[in-house]
Amino acid sequence: MNKLFGREKKEKLKNAAHINLGGVYVLGVMYCILMVVLIAVQANVRYTIRADRLTLLPREELAKLKTEQTERMDDTFRTDSPDTHKDTLLVIEDGDAGSEKAQKLYIPVFSQMKIAYDVCTAETLEPGMIREYDKIVLAITHYPLLADTIADLKVWVKQGGNLMIAYPPEVSGSYQTLYEILGIKDSGDTTLVEGLHFDKNFMIGGIAKDYYIIDAYDCSLGLSITDDCEVYIRSTDEYSVPLVWRRKAGEGTIVVDNFGILEKAYRGIHCAAYSLLGDYCIYPVINGAAFYIDDFPSPVPGGDGQYITRDYNMSISDFYSQVWWNDIYELAKKHNIYYTGLVIEDYSNQVSGEFVRNREIRRFQYFGNMLLRSGGEIGIHGYNHMPLVLENFDYKDQYDAYIQWPSVEDMRNSLNEVFDFTHDLFKDEELLVYVPPSNVLSEEGRKLLNETSIRSVAAVYLSTDMAFEQEFDVSGDGMINCPRITSGCVIDDYMELAALSELNLHFVNTHFVHPDDVLDEDRGARLGWAKLYKNLCNYYDWLYKVCPKLRNMTGTELAAAVEHYDLVGVNREFTDDRLTLKLDNFNGENWMLFRVNNGKKLLRVRGGGFDEVADGLYLIRCAKDEVELEIYK
Ligand SMILES: [Zn+2]
Repeated sequence: MNKLFGREKKEKLKNAAHINLGGVYVLGVMYCILMVVLIAVQANVRYTIRADRLTLLPREELAKLKTEQTERMDDTFRTDSPDTHKDTLLVIEDGDAGSEKAQKLYIPVFSQMKIAYDVCTAETLEPGMIREYDKIVLAITHYPLLADTIADLKVWVKQGGNLMIAYPPEVSGSYQTLYEILGIKDSGDTTLVEGLHFDKNFMIGGIAKDYYIIDAYDCSLGLSITDDCEVYIRSTDEYSVPLVWRRKAGEGTIVVDNFGILEKAYRGIHCAAYSLLGDYCIYPVINGAAFYIDDFPSPVPGGDGQYITRDYNMSISDFYSQVWWNDIYELAKKHNIYYTGLVIEDYSNQVSGEFVRNREIRRFQYFGNMLLRSGGEIGIHGYNHMPLVLENFDYKDQYDAYIQWPSVEDMRNSLNEVFDFTHDLFKDEELLVYVPPSNVLSEEGRKLLNETSIRSVAAVYLSTDMAFEQEFDVSGDGMINCPRITSGCVIDDYMELAALSELNLHFVNTHFVHPDDVLDEDRGARLGWAKLYKNLCNYYDWLYKVCPKLRNMTGTELAAAVEHYDLVGVNREFTDDRLTLKLDNFNGENWMLFRVNNGKKLLRVRGGGFDEVADGLYLIRCAKDEVELEIYK
């Protein structure tokens, strides 16, 4: 449908007027109807499909709340603040590489789970301190450092303490003295773990399949354990090794995390292991899934169209409108997904001067309006695909085609142009989400975004060379960080495990769809679109099979969910059969994952609702700032 069609119709109507006046009347009415339809198509009418979109707090208010929270947290986590009771003690070893890796993993995990913790070194741990804590996590390699306290730790466990071994340590006489309570019969050398097999349905998605490890290495201890250990995860290898187990020891519990890969992509495994300590563990989560489409809408992407010609015998442009978009659209419909498309106005190399308006807008209108009508959102990627970095930025010879911007002013001018361009096309869109081209963004560029309508930056969760790495959180200036975890149509073992991990740590999934996968051999173009699409379908099918409760969201809605998650303060009061949550900064709703151990069950929730998402793991909806969970013993 286009304006030309309207003009042709008009010509025909003119001719008709000479022939029959009654016919003119009928044709006139038809013409008016046709014009109304054409105007509706061109006018970017936004059809809101869902009423209950989450909304963002005003930027200044959010920045203020975040600053206050950071000050409060600094106070709480100050080791010299004796008045706040902390549940967990993390014992570390100074100068040891293994312990440092573990700290880099567990400290953000505890902070994000909003677990109050103290940190002390193995040398400064004193017998008198042990009794102060409910849970102690040993993140050390050399257990002889605990020579003075190991006997007290054992007594404390038997009297009700909960002890976790955070990663496989060096086997020593001191470590072996713990074997009696850890349930270890015998230990050998470090051993290869090629994959994870879940013996118990304790993590979301765990038992759906086995998960394999890319670039596997010797990351656990080969050992045999006693029959009274409950194994949750073991290796997939022929002679499998227990990787996570739990054991009752007297009144207390033991958790051994014998899975030594302590990287960000595996956080959820270690978080789940920690949650097995004691009777209960509850922590706030995001509850959201968002799907971002790279360079969409944009001019027809350049690239190698040979696999499109091979399989479809059509132009790149026709392939996108006739094949690719139909498939992606159908997939969204099947799972009720609301895509967030990121606009590129022009594939130029321009980084200075006047940024000329792209007048070729038919593709933008066609795809953009389809996206909006299916409940999606439009955000900004850039005037062109040049990342917002100045000449002080080092591309380390990795992006030969990229040119740095000469000045902040030039970057600003290009942003002004793409915002104006996009506003003209999609008048109801607020343009709140930004994805940096090639995931590269400088501090200068990031600051500039604060001058625009952008409220959320969606870069990457897992670090690669020079990518802008983020956590799911709010920055001090009120910008909301919603990193993308997985991407593309070739979902490898690493991405699968990262997706599994994040469902269990943050109850979140974020995926980046690249329309040009089919033009890029490195991203699987040779496989052909049919196969790439099948991969994507399988990934989505897996996600919604293992996690049907996950809420689908646009980028802005996810930002609002991250805002709720990040701002909330959690006060927990446990009694035998009851847990009372008191929430600070409550803003209408919050979500939690609640682990109940020792065969207990959640009976009812006052002030909210719940769903069991794995055995003994509940998704809790908090509808009030005070929520009471009643547990059946
Ligand atoms: Zn892009």
